[in-house]
Amino acid sequence: MRVVLLGPPGAGKGTQAEVLCRAFSIPHISTGNMLREAIEVGSTLGKQAKKLMDEGILVSDEVINRLVVERIREEDCKQGYLFDGFPRTIPQAIALDEEEVYLDLVIEIDVPDEVVVRRMSGRRVHPKSGRNYHIQFNPPKIPNKDDKTGEPLIQRDDDRPETVKDRLKIYRSQTLPLIEFYLTKSNESALRYIKISGDDSPDIVSTNILERTKQ
Ligand code: ADP
Ligand code: ADP
Repeated sequence: MRVVLLGPPGAGKGTQAEVLCRAFSIPHISTGNMLREAIEVGSTLGKQAKKLMDEGILVSDEVINRLVVERIREEDCKQGYLFDGFPRTIPQAIALDEEEVYLDLVIEIDVPDEVVVRRMSGRRVHPKSGRNYHIQFNPPKIPNKDDKTGEPLIQRDDDRPETVKDRLKIYRSQTLPLIEFYLTKSNESALRYIKISGDDSPDIVSTNILERTKQ
């Protein structure tokens, strides 16, 4: 199964990805997590990406497409995968078509802007695994520590309210056109498109997604 999770920053894509990847036994491919890993290890890609990411600007399609194409050729991707935060532009979606990647499912998670801003300010992340928490809505068992490893959580530099507003603008101009792109594709191919409200508790959103995928 090849799945795309679509939705604004803070919609809950990363949170839902963990549940869905477990349910479908497929790897989670988050371009945001891959870029943050590159920053952690200090690679050239990481150095180039950091400046853009801190300002909420998208990394170039060329760089992202290369990263993803390499990743999906790996052994664990044979039975499918879930993309989170990719594709984010029409050229990225076209790159998938050019690779002859046939998607089975696109899940759009819909949340209002004010919810996004509230979620991002409380988001905390375990940088190595990409696990997401929220200080109020999804707190770790021990404050500021990852549940699995006990390692410290960080606040992302791009989760500052000023940057979040810019990221929402970029989402609207660059990523929103993908909704139309995939809706059209779903009318012309076997691709399924489902839209889910993300403005419920994480458990309710997961249950709703899993129920819709069974229908
Ligand atoms: P969120 O989880 O809030 O939607 P991500 O972790 O997916 O954010 O992305 C963080 C940042 O990484 C983006 O603002 C952008 O700079 C960069 N990035 C991640 N994925 C992509 C992509 N597919 N194309 C371009 N830039 C990306
Ligand atoms: P995205 O990957 O779309 O940017 P995340 O999964 O990282 O979104 O979620 C953003 C923040 O909101 C995180 O702090 C996360 O713990 C929290 N969150 C995710 N889903 C929900 C939800 N349904 N209700 C409340 N908070 C949520």
